[in-house]
Amino acid sequence: MTYTNFTVETDADGIALVTWNMPDRSMNVFTEEVMGELDKIIDQVVADAGIKGAVITSGKETFSGGADLTMLQKMLKLYAKEKAKDADKAAKLLFDNAGRMGALWRKLETSGKPWVSAINGTCMGGAFELSLACHGRVAADSDKVKMALPEVKVGIFPGAGGTQRVPRLADPQSALQMLTSGQTLTPQKAKGMNLIHAVVEPKKLIETAKGMIRNGLKPVQPWDEKGFKLPGGPVYSAAGANLWPPAIAILRRETYGNYPAATAILKCVYEGLLVPFDTGLRIEQRYFTEIMQTREAAAMIRSLFVSLQELNKGARRPEGITDTKFKKIGIIGAGFMGAGIAYVTAKAGIPVVLVDRDQEAADKGKAHSDSLISDQVKKGRAKPEERDKLLSLITPSADYADLAGCDLVVEAVFEDSEVKKATTEKAEAVLKSSSVFASNTSTIPITSLGKNSARPKNFIGIHFFSPVDKMMLVEIIMGKKTGDKALAVAMDFVRAIKKTPIVVNDTRGFYVNRCVLRYMSEAFKMLIEGVPAAMIENAAKAAGMPVGPLALTDETAVDLAQKIMKQTIRDLGEKAVDPRQMALINTMVDSHGRLGRKNTKGFYDYPAKPAKKKLWPGLKDLYPQKAPENVDVEELKLRLLSVIALEAARVMEECIVTDPREADVGSILAFGFAPYTGGALSYIDGIGAKKFVKIAKDLQKKYGAEFKAPKLLIDMAEKGDTFYQRFDPYAKSEEKKAA
Ligand code: NAD
Repeated sequence: MTYTNFTVETDADGIALVTWNMPDRSMNVFTEEVMGELDKIIDQVVADAGIKGAVITSGKETFSGGADLTMLQKMLKLYAKEKAKDADKAAKLLFDNAGRMGALWRKLETSGKPWVSAINGTCMGGAFELSLACHGRVAADSDKVKMALPEVKVGIFPGAGGTQRVPRLADPQSALQMLTSGQTLTPQKAKGMNLIHAVVEPKKLIETAKGMIRNGLKPVQPWDEKGFKLPGGPVYSAAGANLWPPAIAILRRETYGNYPAATAILKCVYEGLLVPFDTGLRIEQRYFTEIMQTREAAAMIRSLFVSLQELNKGARRPEGITDTKFKKIGIIGAGFMGAGIAYVTAKAGIPVVLVDRDQEAADKGKAHSDSLISDQVKKGRAKPEERDKLLSLITPSADYADLAGCDLVVEAVFEDSEVKKATTEKAEAVLKSSSVFASNTSTIPITSLGKNSARPKNFIGIHFFSPVDKMMLVEIIMGKKTGDKALAVAMDFVRAIKKTPIVVNDTRGFYVNRCVLRYMSEAFKMLIEGVPAAMIENAAKAAGMPVGPLALTDETAVDLAQKIMKQTIRDLGEKAVDPRQMALINTMVDSHGRLGRKNTKGFYDYPAKPAKKKLWPGLKDLYPQKAPENVDVEELKLRLLSVIALEAARVMEECIVTDPREADVGSILAFGFAPYTGGALSYIDGIGAKKFVKIAKDLQKKYGAEFKAPKLLIDMAEKGDTFYQRFDPYAKSEEKKAA
């Protein structure tokens, strides 16, 4: 039999090698067609008396990325359509569809013939669940092999038996940790957890897998054997009593109850372990059906999977411009940011010229890369050869002439217009006219910096966040005169260094910093109102933010907040900054010398490790404190999220960001906007514009103009619009299809 996505070759011993290798895809994923073919392959293996057992592997470098989540999106669309006609029938259809993959893996494991999964590369989600259903599991001993059930990160959970098989193989504590966090496992870790049987040299992978069958691997899973015992003992036991009550508390501490999928995992495991395996699968299927219908699942799948992938693939790249293959990138300014940009560029295999005012400063910038990559080598995450290769790609220099031949130059010199002007002129004198010049400025408008350029069409902003090696988002800033070619080159660069680009039109603070400043400023207002600092920080975390606004201010520096406020007053007048907030920051910086984490004193105190940071007790003396029982925590949460969401809506209204995918993904990647909401705009869409405008009006009355809903939102409320309807990112491609 022939298949589109698989080959099946049976050897002389009667062992079939099923190789998954999808044409026209760089990675194997589950699609309707793949599932249909696997179903037929199982039938073929069972029906063919000449086949003793089967090994399943991948013909690509990776094993599989799991399910194509657009398949789930389609399933949900169909559900929504059917629900309008007959709700019960629609729910049944969704339940059946949700159980399809799980049923297939169960069919495989009860087929009566032994199956072995030969995991040759990254094996994620449904593919790892398929492997767990195989009677034998072998992984190649390679850095490229990673296994995970990461579904919880996009608002769903492993619904094809993962929640039942993992805790029947591994001890329940590690199983819960792995499932509720989406943790990635190395082959050694997976073996240690008893999730795979063997880790072998890559070239011995298939032979070992076949050997398991030749040696009489039993085609029965442990849980289908009589007398099977759970690795952690029964749920109702002394060990169980030690595990389950704290497990609930730990999950609550980690998620604040914001992630229904994580809670559902706990329920699946707990309830599933009380009953026979098939009933456990049924329980899982029920919760999975329920979770798929949550707002969180829809929002997270959209932003954190679909939109993120689309943006990474260059959804906003102008068409008709050939891809740039970078031969050499120039970076001017080898300080904090420039050194980080040099590191990520060299890490992507691109040669870098790192220029500073003198050789010593340039060398210091390169030393940053040495320290980062050496640390990776020490931790076993990189090989010494990789360090040598990376460092050989960075040429530190004090001579601008070395920039000749660069396709792109990124400037990260002092935040000073005059210094930037001189830098641009000196660089352009040696660059070819087609080169693109980018500034990493965080506050100076790109349009005004572009005036320093002899070719403003090729002048653009590429705004990184710190620390550069960790932060995945990059804002690409379009000046008034920036051309499409410069945009394409900037995007190609950001994609080459494996970060996510969003396109932002020029404005003070661009997109991300506008939102972040609102978040911090709302916390300053709360402090001034007398809200205890710990309540502000905890409310932010309970709302789903990874870092509280006061901790975030410390990270970026309190004196930086002071500088920005003072500059804003100089540029826009006294009224542009709340005088009480200015006074608070002046008191922190000028009277108490509290600059943030950098001098170990900010809103928090930072004692030497291993002691943890603690809120500065002196904060209590700055303003009369409200009694905690007089503070409405739900309202604090609402204020912190809404104030950001409203700024994001204003940014859309002003056409600073034009695609809701960018506003949403940007808000999550840059400052961790409550990921379960799908991002700052999806937060509003999820509540509904009408209800959100009412919330904003109420908050405006109590807390001020920050909460004034922009006209755009009021109009959306009247028309019942969402951001994704009004700024439909797919409208253009639909139009094209129609034409
Ligand atoms: P920094 O002071 O650490 O580094 C600036 C470097 O530029 C120094 O090494 C300095 O010697 C060098 N330099 C100054 N004039 C030069 C010249 N004429 N030619 C060559 N080199 C010169 O500053 P930083 O924090 O890395 O910031 C750099 C830029 O990045 C600024 O525009 C800043 O606004 C922006 N930025 C900073 C952050 C951040 O978190 N620090 C984030 C995003 C953007």
